Amino acid sequence: RAGTSTEPALLFFSEEMNQRVREHLRIESELRDAPGNGELLLYYQPKVSLRSGRIVGAEALLRWRHPVRGLVSPGVFIPVAEETGSIMALGNWVIEEACRQIARWRDAGVAMPPVAVNLSARQFDRGLPQRMAAVLERHQVHPGQIMLEITESLLVRGADTVIAIMNELVAMGLALALDDFGTGYSSLAYLKKFPISTLKIDRAFVVGLPHEENDCAIARAIVTMAQQLRQEIVAEGVETMEQMTFLRELGCDQLQGYLFSQPVPAADFERMLRGGQCLALAPPDC
Ligand code: C2E
Ligand code: MG
Ligand code: MG
Ligand code: MG
Repeated sequence: RAGTSTEPALLFFSEEMNQRVREHLRIESELRDAPGNGELLLYYQPKVSLRSGRIVGAEALLRWRHPVRGLVSPGVFIPVAEETGSIMALGNWVIEEACRQIARWRDAGVAMPPVAVNLSARQFDRGLPQRMAAVLERHQVHPGQIMLEITESLLVRGADTVIAIMNELVAMGLALALDDFGTGYSSLAYLKKFPISTLKIDRAFVVGLPHEENDCAIARAIVTMAQQLRQEIVAEGVETMEQMTFLRELGCDQLQGYLFSQPVPAADFERMLRGGQCLALAPPDC
């Protein structure tokens, strides 16, 4: 294995790495200017109640309208922002914009369900409750209008501090959801320690429903556990009627996914809300 035979692979690898590093650096520097240049925007995706068929929530998802690359997805730039620290500025922009939009909808007389924003673990520091309070105050938004989506990576990091911050947020009236559930390492027993009101089953386990036995078993276990912990359960990435039927029979509370709607600009979301009707795919009794 030693010797020259590895050289071509190494060369290829280093060139690819080189390119990735350069790409990374470019994104990093452009990202720093994105909020100031007005290149960021939020899309909204509905969360649909399985009981009523109505929109009972929205998730705000960040988009970057790059002058050359077009609409860049957060899967590309959030990891870069997390690594370089600019996630704080981006995250603050997201919270501010979500509250600004909620206030706009309120002023326009649109009955708005709670809006969830995604938080990176790095945003979850001692200053977060204070920052949240200031933004809510600035836009006169009720804390019940905001849900914070966090991921399991946060739970394994210094649990006591994290629990204290969570308790402070919950005491303020904000709700916490655990995003991408099942992809991390948190055990069911461990979850009880955290004041989390909603579990979101990751799309990875929804995709194989109802045909993949393993996915069905995992989804069933998550729903059963969440019911015992009295948590609401949202399934992410629901794309088919079959998946919806299976999740309804399991006792899932809410669904989110392309079956209902992709994430859309605020104006389109408002139109969906104003429509007010039960979604076409909802259960017949609504
Ligand atoms: P997430 O929070 O788990 O959001 C769900 C992602 O799944 C979104 O991708 C959404 O567009 C996509 N999705 C929803 N329904 C379906 C479906 O039926 N099928 C498929 N294939 N995909 C579906 P998006 O918007 O690209 O966001 C990706 C991730 O980026 C998010 O995953 C979240 O972790 C992160 N992210 C987005 N916005 C923010 C933000 O403002 N702050 C932070 N820290 N992270 C964010
Ligand atoms: Mg999310
Ligand atoms: Mg998710
Ligand atoms: Mg996910």
